[in-house]
Amino acid sequence: MIYDELYQEIILDHYKMPRNFFVMEDSHCHKNGYNPLCGDNFTIYLKIDNKIISDISFQGQGCAISTASTSMMTDLLKGKTLSEAKKLCQLFHNMLTKDCDEDDENLDELIAMKGVRKFSMRVKCATLSWHALSQAIDECERT
Ligand code: ZN
Repeated sequence: MIYDELYQEIILDHYKMPRNFFVMEDSHCHKNGYNPLCGDNFTIYLKIDNKIISDISFQGQGCAISTASTSMMTDLLKGKTLSEAKKLCQLFHNMLTKDCDEDDENLDELIAMKGVRKFSMRVKCATLSWHALSQAIDECERT
């Protein structure tokens, strides 16, 4: 299977069966992200214990790219420390905005989103929930 097809499979799989897709009633903080250009609208829920993301979920709706990106993000960040999470945010953002050909293994399945960087409209879809996540982490750290 060529890489592009494999990547599409991964994205479609997360789109059809989003992971950690529920409203977390007892979250410590949550943030909404809305992309008017596409209509993507998600809320990210975080539970943080001892500076570790002990639980993370999301709810909302959007296109395949935004849904898959958010689903993979929650999978990847669960159990990570806040500083690790911030680093991964940065790595993901770099992958979609800079021309580097090295795949960073730390991003795991999110490498599948790499092809998105050729389409600037789609980059907004892919990064939407990551921005919401960064805001949620900031808010949690302030309180
Ligand atoms: Zn979208």
